[in-house]
Amino acid sequence: MESQCAHLETCGFFKKYQAAKDLACKGFIKLYCRGPKMNNCKRKQYREKHGEPPSDDMLPSGHMIVNKIDRE
Ligand code: SF4
Repeated sequence: MESQCAHLETCGFFKKYQAAKDLACKGFIKLYCRGPKMNNCKRKQYREKHGEPPSDDMLPSGHMIVNKIDRE
């Protein structure tokens, strides 16, 4: 089984939040992008359905990030 999502390199969410210290983001990346739920990712499903990726601020769970997240 693949150890990381095939979209990792091009995924806006991953690129934007991979360095975030926010624990929730880390959790999503661990669980989805590099974990057992990668095939349940709503971003991936959106991309397949619409032929283009969703907003960078859409989480793998399908929810939108509304608060500013400290990426420093
Ligand atoms: S957010 Fe989804 S599409 Fe993006 S890298 Fe993670 S698992 Fe893949």
